[in-house]
Amino acid sequence: MSSTAARSQAIIELAQRSIPGGVSSANRLVEPNLVFTCAQGAYIFDAEGKRYIDYHAAFGPPLLGHCNQEVNQRVIETLSQIDVVGVGSNELEAQLAAKLCQHIPCAEKVLFCNSGSEATYAALRLARAVTGRRKIIKFQGCYHGWHDAILMNVISPAEKLGQKDPLSAGMLPEAVENTLVLPFNDLEAVRQTLEQQGQEIAAIILELIPHNIGCVLPQPAFVKGLRDLTRQYGSVLIFDEVVTGFRHGLGGYQKVLGITPDLTTMAKAIANGYPLAMLAGRADLLDHCKPGGDVFFAGTFNAHPVGVAAALATLEILERSESYAHIFGLGARMRQGLCDIIQKYSLKATVAGFGSIFLVYFMEPPIESYADLLRNDATKFVAYRRKMIARGIYELPVNLKRNHISLAHTSADIAETLEVAEAVLREL
Ligand code: PMP
Repeated sequence: MSSTAARSQAIIELAQRSIPGGVSSANRLVEPNLVFTCAQGAYIFDAEGKRYIDYHAAFGPPLLGHCNQEVNQRVIETLSQIDVVGVGSNELEAQLAAKLCQHIPCAEKVLFCNSGSEATYAALRLARAVTGRRKIIKFQGCYHGWHDAILMNVISPAEKLGQKDPLSAGMLPEAVENTLVLPFNDLEAVRQTLEQQGQEIAAIILELIPHNIGCVLPQPAFVKGLRDLTRQYGSVLIFDEVVTGFRHGLGGYQKVLGITPDLTTMAKAIANGYPLAMLAGRADLLDHCKPGGDVFFAGTFNAHPVGVAAALATLEILERSESYAHIFGLGARMRQGLCDIIQKYSLKATVAGFGSIFLVYFMEPPIESYADLLRNDATKFVAYRRKMIARGIYELPVNLKRNHISLAHTSADIAETLEVAEAVLREL
């Protein structure tokens, strides 16, 4: 073992001695077990100093690339003025909220917290409060965070697809019972459920594009149907745009689709890597959360100036017309290049994605629901990514995970990636 590889090993051993599995988040421990000690722009560097083009992007936050200097500078300036005060309104928070209300179609008001899970938790609590109902509907393959109300049937074995399949011990059975899980893109299933239990359904929550299983595009008629049905039955419609928010445009994917929910949650890319999340939506709903209102919403670190300053700087960069043009242009080029390779070698594979997102599934279309993705060759999917990693391209080697392009990626990065992908796909 070289002395540099010894450095990785030492860090892993130190971490595993005091942290369960050596990592603080369930999806972080994957083979090969690498230790990254530096992240800059489009690249991450392991403890041995090896460079990788990063498409994992920490599941999505660094939309501008890692350690963006403008964002970091704003954070440093802010921290030289203020940290947490914990009382009253804050100027930066007010400015950020005003900006978000301009950009996001459903946002009449905004509340800030620290993670996507907190935001979806608050959205569901609010929906239950305003409807006086208990049950919620979520969809197979959609992930909305780690809390009891929705941690089920994200990636489940085929035999559990129609069930709730709680993903964690310790979840309250009442929470599981009150969460119905339906197939994505299946409006008929939603209609039937509402016909039978409509008066008990507080909310329908969905990832507008289920990116937690790669990229399954919604049929516009499905989302439009959810909008109409939730109005008809008096349920709250929640678009979880924790991944798609900012990544697919300043107004999220709801703006692309032209369909407006009652509530939305966004996080990840909003502050380019600093912790910040938000719940936004109709003022008459959000106002239940105001101090003294009937829905309790609080947090010591909510709207922390670090995250808020980072978000303001991030949005300013995204508002420049060339930003999305660059990111989406590279995304389109990557998807086209991968399609060309698949065609050239007649591979049983499909390229999926939108905007800055791309991935190769090892299966043929159609891809409309999680059930379809059971046809994906998971062994090949992971083997492909491990071989890419060995050649300096980091795509998370976990079945169905998506890849992200950032503003920091260049045409040269895409060309290098496609060259490596061709070599790897040919030998798979
Ligand atoms: N919603 C979606 C769509 C997500 O992808 C995630 C995180 N992967 C969450 C919610 C939860 O966000 P967090 O990890 O910040 O709690």
